[in-house]
Formats: sequence, structure tokens, C-alpha cells
Amino acid sequence: KVFTVDEIKKIILDENVQFLRLMFTDINGVIKNVEVPADQINKVLGNKVMFDGSSIDGFVRIEESDMLLIPDLSTFLIFPWGSEHGKVARLICDINTPEGEPFMGDPRNNLRRIVAEMKAAGYSSFNIGPEPEFFLFKLDANDKPTLDLNDDGGYFDFAPVDLGENCRRDIVLELEKMGFEVEASHHEVAPGQHEIDFKYADAVEAADNIQTFKLVVKTIARKHGLHATFMPKPLEGIAGSGMHINMSLSNESGNAFYDENTPDKLSAEAKHFIAGLMAHARALTAINNPSVNSYKRLVPGFEASVYVAWSGHNRSPLIRVPQARGLSTRLELRSVDPAANPYLAIASILACGLSGLSENLPVPEPIDRNIYGMTSAERHEANITDLPSTLHNALKSLEADEVVKGSLGPHLTQSFIDSKRLEWNSYRQTVSDWERDQYLSL
Ligand code: GLN
Ligand code: MG
Ligand code: MG
Ligand code: MG
Repeated sequence: KVFTVDEIKKIILDENVQFLRLMFTDINGVIKNVEVPADQINKVLGNKVMFDGSSIDGFVRIEESDMLLIPDLSTFLIFPWGSEHGKVARLICDINTPEGEPFMGDPRNNLRRIVAEMKAAGYSSFNIGPEPEFFLFKLDANDKPTLDLNDDGGYFDFAPVDLGENCRRDIVLELEKMGFEVEASHHEVAPGQHEIDFKYADAVEAADNIQTFKLVVKTIARKHGLHATFMPKPLEGIAGSGMHINMSLSNESGNAFYDENTPDKLSAEAKHFIAGLMAHARALTAINNPSVNSYKRLVPGFEASVYVAWSGHNRSPLIRVPQARGLSTRLELRSVDPAANPYLAIASILACGLSGLSENLPVPEPIDRNIYGMTSAERHEANITDLPSTLHNALKSLEADEVVKGSLGPHLTQSFIDSKRLEWNSYRQTVSDWERDQYLSL
């Protein structure tokens, strides 16, 4: 719903909202807030709230630090959970320079830029249905997260009602109060691991939803004495958390990926889009799997994708085409993890798909067998390549990929690479227990 300025002012008075939380996302996907008392509403809605961008990762240098917050009125909502200081409403904001230009270091502005390119190419929306997974850990007596999982359930288990199930139900109820349409919610394969799927939305709204979703999950888990984490691989030896991304393009005639006249009912456009994703898969990994820890998930044996291939039948490749056709025709990209900045991930995925379309890239043959069961010689024979195995390798691929860099633009590309190089350089100086166990006897 798009609210007018007057409607928002009225709701704030009627509902006795005390605080306005102005939200945006930094380069690492972390939600940032500027909170102002509700009586500042005229300033907020007049696009006059400024903040110091130099303190935010990946934004600006000290000498150009003042940035303007431009609230997106369609994102107005009141948080349903109580606060002892009165109700809190939020608005997701775009970021402008003091001169009033869209700031290109803002991931949300950047996504709008790629969506405009999509529209210029003749498509009306990029529909994104995410499948975020997360773990619930117990909090200790000081409210610090432990590594104790709260249950030992498994996939789709109807475990006796435990902490985790109750917490997940509560999360679903709160999400629904906030206007989410939750399509599925279930226990995942690993103990303490859950998944909640909500209805697809167009690119920018979908990214907003992912950020709001994470906030709700973390907030409600706390109320249950639990810590929710979107860390991709919190514990070794069990599954990690992914965030599969289901996607389709719409045009005037409906779903551009559907064609009732082909044997597999996929359009030529769907095939070019797949080809684009595969051609840029290695560089995309830097954006979709942006932490050192992401690469601990991208290993064989835990249902996380490791190999660049596509299939209509098998879940082992990077891209799966679920059976549904007609309006529901879609691709599922299975490498993405919930540490990804959703604005950057969706922008880069869309740009790669569009480049496959504009270049008429031919799609490789589908691989309809379990790739995890193939030897490396068989994979080589079938032209199946790997995803990068470390953040370092993914960054090298990113640096060499003009399409993925172009999807971020020069400002975001530079700050992303700088930020991730720092992360990698910090990690490579550490020495782990694994290494001491292996080598101390040398
Ligand atoms: N947890 C798996 C991953 O890391 C996905 C499991 C599933 O949804 N089938 O991607
Ligand atoms: Mg799922
Ligand atoms: Mg899952
Ligand atoms: Mg899935």
C-alpha cells in the first residue's frame, strides 16, 4: 500500500506512535536505524533528516559525510510487538546526497537502478521468493547466545511442542500481523534449524521483506529466550543455512519464463537467463556468499550447491527449475545464503540474467543426475565447474567480471571489495584448533 503523507501523520496520531525508526542497509547487509521521536514527523516526511554516513561501513569518506534519508512511504508500518515507551513505526529509506541526488553507495538505490534496466529491456517485474533458513540457540543466564541448540528435531518433524516450534509459530504470527503472507514454515534438516518461506514480491520490496524478516525473527526469538542466527554455517558436521532464491520475470503477457509450446514448457528467455547466471556464477558467489563462513557451507554433503549446473529434476545443481509451470514457472538459485545483502544479491542476480538475455547466451545441457555422486573426472567430462571455495577466490572472480561489477556500480564495487578484503585478511591471520590438532605434533 502506498500511503500519503497525510495518512501517515493521521495514523501516527491515532495509534499514538512515539518513535519513528528510519531504516536502511549498509554494504554488509546490516540494518541501520536512525530513530527519531514521532513529533519529528514533518521533518522526516519532508526528506530533511540527515545522518553521518562516514560512520557506516562502505558509505562515504569523512569529507562528504552528510547524507539525506528519503523515506519510502509504501514501507510504513507499526511494529506489532509492544514497547514500554509506546509504539514504534518504521520507514525504509533511500539515501540521497546533500544535493538531493540518489547516493550510489546505497544498495537499495543501486537495486532500483538495475530494476530500471530491466524495465528498459521490456519486463515489468522481477519476482523473488526467498527461502531463508536459520538456527535457534539457547541464551545463557546473561542473555548471551550459547551453542546449545534448542531441540533435536529434523526435517518436517512433528516434534513434541518444544521451544523452537513455539518460537517459530510466534514469528509466523508476528510476520502475518506485519502483512507478510507466510507460505510455509518448517523445521529444517539440522537440529535447531528452521525455515520460513513468504510470498514472492518484486525486487526492491522482496529485499525489504528479507531485511524485515530477519529483524522479526531475531526480535521474537529473544522474547523466547533464544538467539536466532543467519550465520551460514554455525556448526560443523551438520547442515548450514541457505537462502534459496526463487525468481521469475514478468512481462505484459505474464510469466516470461513460461512457454506452453516447448517440450519442457520453459521459454527461450528462461534458458538465456539461466545461461547468464551460470556464466557469471563464480563472481556472483562473492555477492551471494559474502562471508568467510559462507564457504564452510558450500561443501558437498549438506544439500548446499557446489557445482555450476542446472536441472529440472535434481536438487544438487546450482539452479533448479521446480516442476510448477504457468504463472508459477520459476528458477531456484540454491547457492545464496542469508548473510548476503539482499539488495546487492538481487541486483547482481538480475543483471546476470539480463545479460544472458541481451547476449542470447546458449544454455548448457541440464544435468539430471546427482552431481554429488559423480567423480571429478565425470564432472569434468560434463563441463561442470565448481563454485569458488573461499571468499578470497570469489573476490578474485568478482574483480574479473564486468557484468557483476557493473551490477554494483563503481562505488559499491570498490567498497564491497575493500570491506571483504579486510575481512579475508583478518581471517587469514588466525590459527584454528583444527590446524593445531593436525600439525602441533610436527
Ligand atoms: N540447508 C540447505 C542449504 O544449505 C538446504 C536444505 C533444503 O532446503 N533442502 O542450502
Ligand atoms: Mg525450502
Ligand atoms: Mg530449506
Ligand atoms: Mg528450496
